[in-house]
Amino acid sequence: MTKFSVGNLLAAFTAILAGTFFPPVRYPTSVMPDDIIVDFIVVGSGSTGSVVAGRLAEISEWDVLVLEAGGQPPAFAKVPFLHFGTDFTNTSYVNYYKKRPQKYSEQFAKNIGGLYMRGKVIGGSGTINQMMYHRGIPQDYENWATQGNPGWDYKTVLKYFKKTEDYQGPLKSRDAPFRAFGGPIGVEKVSWKPPVCRVAIRAGEEMGLAEVDYNTDTTIGSAIFQLTTKNRERVTTADAFLLPGLRRRNLKLQINSQVIKILMDAENRAIGVKYVHKNKVRK
Ligand SMILES: Cc1cc2nc3c(=O)[nH]c(=O)nc-3n(C[C@H](O)[C@H](O)[C@H](O)COP(=O)(O)OP(=O)(O)OC[C@H]3O[C@@H](n4cnc5c(N)ncnc54)[C@H](O)[C@@H]3O)c2cc1C
Repeated sequence: MTKFSVGNLLAAFTAILAGTFFPPVRYPTSVMPDDIIVDFIVVGSGSTGSVVAGRLAEISEWDVLVLEAGGQPPAFAKVPFLHFGTDFTNTSYVNYYKKRPQKYSEQFAKNIGGLYMRGKVIGGSGTINQMMYHRGIPQDYENWATQGNPGWDYKTVLKYFKKTEDYQGPLKSRDAPFRAFGGPIGVEKVSWKPPVCRVAIRAGEEMGLAEVDYNTDTTIGSAIFQLTTKNRERVTTADAFLLPGLRRRNLKLQINSQVIKILMDAENRAIGVKYVHKNKVRK
């Protein structure tokens, strides 16, 4: 059950304001007949499923169906730092899993009672997450490539990071080769720096840790978070890839549809799915 706290109260107030002043994004949805034949079924419209579905549907000869267990996102999903995963602990937009208390890690999560959450909504966990944008450490990509994974070296993945982003933060000339504009995912720096952040960054500088753009090849230093937002609103991969794709005739999204089984043929190839929609098992 949701516990009372100033944070919860503020979150509820912001949710009401968001719902009042901003219309929620409505994704076009369909209800497919049984035994419909498509080229691809994507299970889940989360961070990954949305990109996969949107990109597959760029091939106009392929019919793509996305089955999503959750429903339409609420208006307040657009509001940055309204973490409805953690601020509201009984929402239908989230699947909650109980986990064992951790001795060393995740001490910050003690107050949410060891709950592990995942989005159950269009956009998946990308609709409920904290939107921090961090590409990772270049050296890790190099290590993966040298371990026999072609295409995972930093130079190759950088091309795709740049292709997807629309960076709206301040930019130093040394960082420019790593950043790009005009892609589908907005990336912004948190614009409001509370005094404690400014002090922490100054303290870092005194210790020789310069303020850096950590989404470049310089990942040691201090920095303010970068977020996946555009004009201060959350951007999910569902906004960036699925929604534009749904304007195509060959991509359909069916919501409130929980896949329960992947159907295989005699050669162990996936040929369909069984799912529950409105309390009925369908395929
Ligand atoms: C509270 C929270 C905060 C986070 N903060 C950050 C952050 O700041 N920065 C960051 O980079 N990452 C963050 N993450 C992690 C990040 O959001 C996830 O790693 C990412 O979204 C996972 O993507 P995914 O496609 O694997 O799964 P999801 O995005 O969770 O998508 C899975 C989708 O599949 C649907 N689904 C599942 N099972 C079925 C089924 N059987 N049938 C039909 N549909 C199904 C679900 O409803 C969901 O929509 C956070 C995650 C959470 C939960």
